[in-house]
Amino acid sequence: MSDAEELRHLMATEGDAISLNTKGFNRGRYDSVSRLDDYDELKDKARAIKEDAIERLPELIDQLEETIAENGGTLYIADDEDDANEYIREVVADREAERVVKSKSMTSEEIEVNEALEADGVEVVETDLGEWVLQVADEAPSHIVAPAIHKSRDAIAELFNERFDLDEPLETAEELTQFAREQLGELIEDAQVGMTGANFVTADTGTMALVTSEGNARKTVAATDTQIAVAGVEKVVPTVEDMQPFVELIGRSGTGQDITAYLSLLTPPVGTPNVDFGDDETPLSELDADRDFHLVLIDNGRMAMREDDDLRETLYCIRCSACSNSCANFQQVGGHAFGGETYSGGIATGWEAGIEGLDTAAEFNDLCTGCSRCVDACPVKIDIPWINTVVRDRINGEKEGQFDFLVDGLTPDEEDTSPSLQKRFFGNFETVAKVGSALAPASNWLANTTVSRQAMQRVLGVDARRELPKFTRETLVEWFADRETAVRNPDRRAVLYPDLYTNHVQVERGKAAVRVLEALNIDVVVPKVASSGRAPLSQGMVSTARDHAERVSAALLPHIEDGRDVVVIEPSDLAMFHREYKRLLDQSTHESLAGNSYEVMEYVYGLLENGASVDILTPAMGERVAYHSHCQQRTLGLEGHTTAVLERCGYDVLTSDVECCGMAGSFGYKSDYYDVSVAVGNDLRDQFTDADASDRTVVASGTSCLEQLDDLLERPTRHPIQLLAGDRR
Ligand code: SF4
Repeated sequence: MSDAEELRHLMATEGDAISLNTKGFNRGRYDSVSRLDDYDELKDKARAIKEDAIERLPELIDQLEETIAENGGTLYIADDEDDANEYIREVVADREAERVVKSKSMTSEEIEVNEALEADGVEVVETDLGEWVLQVADEAPSHIVAPAIHKSRDAIAELFNERFDLDEPLETAEELTQFAREQLGELIEDAQVGMTGANFVTADTGTMALVTSEGNARKTVAATDTQIAVAGVEKVVPTVEDMQPFVELIGRSGTGQDITAYLSLLTPPVGTPNVDFGDDETPLSELDADRDFHLVLIDNGRMAMREDDDLRETLYCIRCSACSNSCANFQQVGGHAFGGETYSGGIATGWEAGIEGLDTAAEFNDLCTGCSRCVDACPVKIDIPWINTVVRDRINGEKEGQFDFLVDGLTPDEEDTSPSLQKRFFGNFETVAKVGSALAPASNWLANTTVSRQAMQRVLGVDARRELPKFTRETLVEWFADRETAVRNPDRRAVLYPDLYTNHVQVERGKAAVRVLEALNIDVVVPKVASSGRAPLSQGMVSTARDHAERVSAALLPHIEDGRDVVVIEPSDLAMFHREYKRLLDQSTHESLAGNSYEVMEYVYGLLENGASVDILTPAMGERVAYHSHCQQRTLGLEGHTTAVLERCGYDVLTSDVECCGMAGSFGYKSDYYDVSVAVGNDLRDQFTDADASDRTVVASGTSCLEQLDDLLERPTRHPIQLLAGDRR
């Protein structure tokens, strides 16, 4: 099956259940965190604890080893999967166990302990409902918190009715849960070894936190006299008090619960007596508490990730799944596509690259569009898109560069690795746009002939169903150079950043921005500046993106030093200046550029707030607007400025509550991802074609959003600045 076919198959078979459940989790998250007064402080606190813990990890592990020994247990550090499994098999063999019951351990999935024990003739039973459903179905998890999220209730009923010899078919959720509980209860009673994971382990007391939505983790610990806990080394935090922000955040971030149904804090070996289920006569108080405890902390690449400046942040992850739930692509395809051997969702790239290697990460890494919605959702503020970008860059380096001889001479990129031809094409879109404008309109005609479209699909993987951008002969910079400024005594001075699309394709929105700013008495210049580097960065071409960042800052900093503000139309470029340039430029250059750059509607809003008259702008005349804000504009907290300005001008604004259009620059053009892109966009199409929106003027702030909306709707779209400009010339 091709990648596109596989994605289509997963969308058809699992997409509805995944979409329904992840969106439900998100709604819960929004509600729950909105009730927290100190959400941001909690996130900062959680991040600081993880930063400190990973920094001091070797020291904390030594401390934990002593603590656990004092408590009467054993700590074993396993180098890798085989080492961990060998130790666990020995413990199970010493206990002569025939059955191991398991709960809440992704790390045990990572080391495939079930297979290792089953090879020894030991029965392994998953006791968490979702995991058990998957064990019965012989399937892999598709989500890090809700492993069977891709299965509907009907599918689970069908599975149970087929696999078990039932008197009556099971139908309702209650019947299914009750049946599973009875089955699992019996299996747990007869087990000799209980295996759990651990969300956190504290070095000071050896306390483990198990955050669960079912009580089976507790049962596996209580019902068996030998407990093995399996966790990655990164789960160690210094003290019991350090667990507080995580306990506040983990349930809220993942499933939207203020607190999960069960929060177990165990300091094993626990002192409660071991129940003998075959003995009804002896009171509990007369049973002894002779329990055995082994904590297996697994390295498996983590210590090397700790030394890796870019992958290190992955170790701060608390596996809450907010990044998966908030990802528009994950909502369509789920973890069976957007995941590796064990981990899924946005952060899976970091985990799989560090643990399994680049090959595994390469299988799904391109599903991250870098929209950055997950960064705001993450309770430890991990820059997940950056991890995806860096890994993409490393994957590029591993590829055979069969087209290098052809492309190196044509494209001025800085890569010493070998990105695919498709990535090099999209990553060097600035060159394409320059040629496109210089040869327009012939270039537009040629690019859209059937022969060209077929060739582009075959060679570059550019889907023939997607309309190509139309380059203008006269760029925004050229248009601006040929005109006189109308502003004599300006209130402020600004440099309008001519992003790639505004300069070569969406030139009208650039002209509108100049006219609106000049009407508001701003002295504007539009110099020739390199493209921001967003295009190469999204292809994992980090060196090329850094080269762009250096050229952009070299061109814009003199204007800033001259007292001009930088006004940016394209939100993804503004996000580059604010976020990614932190990684690409020195600190003072980044701070200077980020601190003086504004999104165009944010800038207009600021001018109105500071005394400019709204009467200068074109009034709405009763016009109704349907507005879609760009993902990165939202993550920068800039969505509201556009709405506020349009409303002040008298527009009736309906804002889309769909958080992503699915286009994300080159993503929607790629044949492999075209269908996912359209599926994500369908929610937006539905909202903008329903009764309250179908007669509204459609406006969107991002180029890719506008292109997606042009494809999905039958009415034209505009940037909001074009409404404010009216027919000003
Ligand atoms: S990266 Fe952040 S949001 Fe994603 S699972 Fe880890 S902690 Fe949660």
